[in-house]
Amino acid sequence: MKLFSWYFKSNLLVRILMGLILGAICGIVFGPAMAWVNPFGEIFIRLLKMIVIPVILFTLTVGAASVHPSQLGRVGVKALVIYMVTTAFAVSFGLICGNLFQPGKGMEIAASVATQGVKADVSAPSLVDTLINVVPVNPFGAISAGNVLPVIFFCLIFGIALAYIRNSEDEKIRQSGETVFRFFNGGAEIMYMVVHWILQYAPIGVFALIADVFGKQGAEAFGPLGWITLAIYLAFIGHMLLVYGGMLFIYKLSPITFFSKAKEAIVTAFVTRSSGGTLPVSMDTADSKMGISQGVYSFSLPLGATINMDGTAIYQGVCAIFVGFAIGAPLTFSQQLTIIATSLLASVGTAGVPGAGAIMLMMVLESVGLKVEPGSPVAMAYAMIFGIDALLDMGRTACNVTGDLAVTCIVAKTENEIDLSRWQKDKQRVPADTTIAD
Ligand code: ASP
Repeated sequence: MKLFSWYFKSNLLVRILMGLILGAICGIVFGPAMAWVNPFGEIFIRLLKMIVIPVILFTLTVGAASVHPSQLGRVGVKALVIYMVTTAFAVSFGLICGNLFQPGKGMEIAASVATQGVKADVSAPSLVDTLINVVPVNPFGAISAGNVLPVIFFCLIFGIALAYIRNSEDEKIRQSGETVFRFFNGGAEIMYMVVHWILQYAPIGVFALIADVFGKQGAEAFGPLGWITLAIYLAFIGHMLLVYGGMLFIYKLSPITFFSKAKEAIVTAFVTRSSGGTLPVSMDTADSKMGISQGVYSFSLPLGATINMDGTAIYQGVCAIFVGFAIGAPLTFSQQLTIIATSLLASVGTAGVPGAGAIMLMMVLESVGLKVEPGSPVAMAYAMIFGIDALLDMGRTACNVTGDLAVTCIVAKTENEIDLSRWQKDKQRVPADTTIAD
C-alpha cells in the first residue's frame, strides 16, 4: 500500500527514468529470461496508440477553430508560411544530423528478433502516394483505420470552417458553432487527462520495453542512446543558431539581443516541456522585452505554440533515421523525403504538451512503413527512444518556443510592429552607464 502511494506521489520524470535504468539493469543481468515482462510493454504501446487519433481529432480541431477568421489575413498568412518553412528546414537539419551521426547503426534489433519469427515491415509508400493519400476519400474511414495524416487534413479543414461558423453574423449559426466548439474543447480536455493517466503507467511500460531490449542486446544498447541524444541536441543548437540567428540577422535584428531577451522563455520551455505552458512567458517576453505589438504576438505566439514545432520536427528526423538503422533497414532517400512531408504535418498536429512529439513520432514512422506493432523490432527501437523522451523533450520544447518567438519577431519587423528602441537600448546603456561610472 505504501509502495502504491509512493508511486503516485513521486515525480513522474524520476519514475520514468528509474523504469529505464532498472529495465536496463534487469535486461543486462537476466538477459532473454526477462521476456516475461513483454505484455506490460505491449500494453503501454497499445495505450499510446489508442489516444493518437482522439488527441488529434479534438486538439487540432480546437486549435484551428480558435483562430479568428479576421486574423487569417496578411499577418496570419505570413506567420503560417514562415512557420512552415522553418519547420521544413528543421526536419532537413534533423535528417542531415541523423545521416552524419548514424545513431543506431549496427544494433540490428531485427536480426535478434527475427529468430522469433517477427520481421520488420519496411515497405515504404512513395512520396507522391503519401501526399495524395493525405486527402481522405472518407474521413470516418480514415479515423477508424487510424490513418493519421488524412485525419489531420480533415480536422484542419473542419476546424477552420468551425472558426467561421463561430464568428458568423447570424446569431443562430454562431450559437450552434459555439456548441460544437465546446464539445470539442471538452473532448480535448478529457484527452489531456487520459494522456496524464497513461503517463502514470509509463514507468512500468518503459521498464518492460527496455528490459526486453537490453535482454536481447546487452549493455551495447547504451551507446546508441547517448549518440542519438548528442545528434539531436547538436541539431537543436545548430538550428537555433543558424536558422533563427540567420533569419533575424537578415531582417536586421541582432541574434545576440534576441537570445538574451528570450532566455527566460527558453528556460521555462526547457523545464516545463510544454510550449502551451510557456505561452504566458513568451507573450510577456514579446510584449515587455521585445516591444512587439499585441496585434502580432497575440495571434502569432498561440498559433506557433499549436502548430510550430521545429524541435519536434528535428527530433522526428533523427529518430526516424535511428529506427531505420536500429532494425537494420536504413532509410532510403525517398523515405527521407517522405519524412520531411510527414514531419511537417505531424508538427502541426503535435499538441504543445509534454511528450506529445513522441506520440506523433509513431505516425511519422508509419508513413515510411515502419509500423510500431507490439513486439516488433520497430516497437523496441521506439521504446528505447521513449525511455529518454523527457531529456529529448526538454531540448525540443526549448527549440519550439525559440522558433515561435523568432518568427514572431520577423513578422513584426516586416509589418513595422516592433519597437526597435527596445533592441538598441541595451547597446546605448553601456556608454551611458560608463559615463555615470566615470
Ligand atoms: N513538448 C513539446 C512542446 O510542448 C511537444 C513535443 O512533445 O514535441 O512543444
